[in-house]
Amino acid sequence: MRTDYNFYAIYFEATRVCNLNCPMCMTGSNEVSRVRASRARELDLDEIRERVLLPAKNLGVQAVAWSGGEFLLRKDALDLLRLTVELGYKASLCTNCESLDRDQLLAIKEATGGRATISVGINAIDDENNWSRDAEVARTLEVLDLCKEIGLDRHVIITIGKHNADSFQKTVDFLVKRRISYNRSPLVARGSGREHFSAGGFDRNDMEEKFHPSLRRHINGYVSYTPYFLSPELHDEVSGGARNRTVPQNPPIGCWCGNWLGITAEGSISVCPVLLDDLDGGNVRDKPLDELVASSKLFEDITDRTRLKGRCGRCRYQVTCGGCRAMAYYQTGDYMAEDPTCFFEPEDETTVSEHEAETNRRFKKYLMIARYSGQYVRPPKEETAE
Ligand code: SF4
Ligand code: SF4
Repeated sequence: MRTDYNFYAIYFEATRVCNLNCPMCMTGSNEVSRVRASRARELDLDEIRERVLLPAKNLGVQAVAWSGGEFLLRKDALDLLRLTVELGYKASLCTNCESLDRDQLLAIKEATGGRATISVGINAIDDENNWSRDAEVARTLEVLDLCKEIGLDRHVIITIGKHNADSFQKTVDFLVKRRISYNRSPLVARGSGREHFSAGGFDRNDMEEKFHPSLRRHINGYVSYTPYFLSPELHDEVSGGARNRTVPQNPPIGCWCGNWLGITAEGSISVCPVLLDDLDGGNVRDKPLDELVASSKLFEDITDRTRLKGRCGRCRYQVTCGGCRAMAYYQTGDYMAEDPTCFFEPEDETTVSEHEAETNRRFKKYLMIARYSGQYVRPPKEETAE
């Protein structure tokens, strides 16, 4: 089936099983009843191949991120990684690091021909406050060092909330110094984050004063954050106008809804991994992935940013930023509402942010990182802004 959709990546939580019980886990793995109910309903390797990975070719998908729970607790984890690469996808693996040792990293390298990225969670690194989202932070750092030694790419996911607003700059400095890419993921009301969200979710002041100054200053994190004040004209120029309907691609930036899609262990899809338990776009057991997306009202909405409401609906950065759909949903119940954590107050689409010039400047440098990671290909024309 051909569709007019074009996504960059799949984020697949291929099991809910996990040995840890992290207090702010953003996956579905910490809810015991869900994990138990899920075990018998997990997609097996053949289903993943037939219902997800092969149909994903029709959606233009280039990369598959495997996550959990703890993905490595699946007995067929290496087979799935091997299949990912054999089908021509870039592979990445989000892990809690608990069972990862040198031998296992070497096995991952062998299965993927060295083309895997290892993603880990670290929420804070400073003198008083060292902790990772998953295993002990020392263990996580050990794995990052081993990856470097073995020659596997590394990436860090930082879940942001009030708990790490004060330490965020130090954590980012630590990663930048080691040239490790990162992205921020908001603490939301999912998994065990549900009980912390009302008190621990960040607000627009935290974003304006604590997180945004660090995010806009360092290009290693430009992969995705909001609010993102990139000139739409500049993105059009460097990308050759590449979009998934209205969502900017080549490289993906701002909110990744419309550039990736999430899948649960049982085959349900959504527009972002942190929305997987709350916004259901259907199940691949009912229709293969490409047909499912093509018939989904949720994906139709989310890839049409002209439907955004409130400030996001009248904003110059409606397309290049899009606002965090998860924060909109978890704070208002409407996934197309304005991002309540944004501090920008546009009168209309002519209002320019004081941060646009800096964002544009650093974005041009970020293109080098995006090219290395395969998220950016210079369009075939004479002039680009790079
Ligand atoms: S909704 Fe968008 S900005 Fe928010 S976490 Fe998901 S991809 Fe990122
Ligand atoms: S108003 Fe919405 S689209 Fe505009 S910068 Fe803020 S979050 Fe982004």
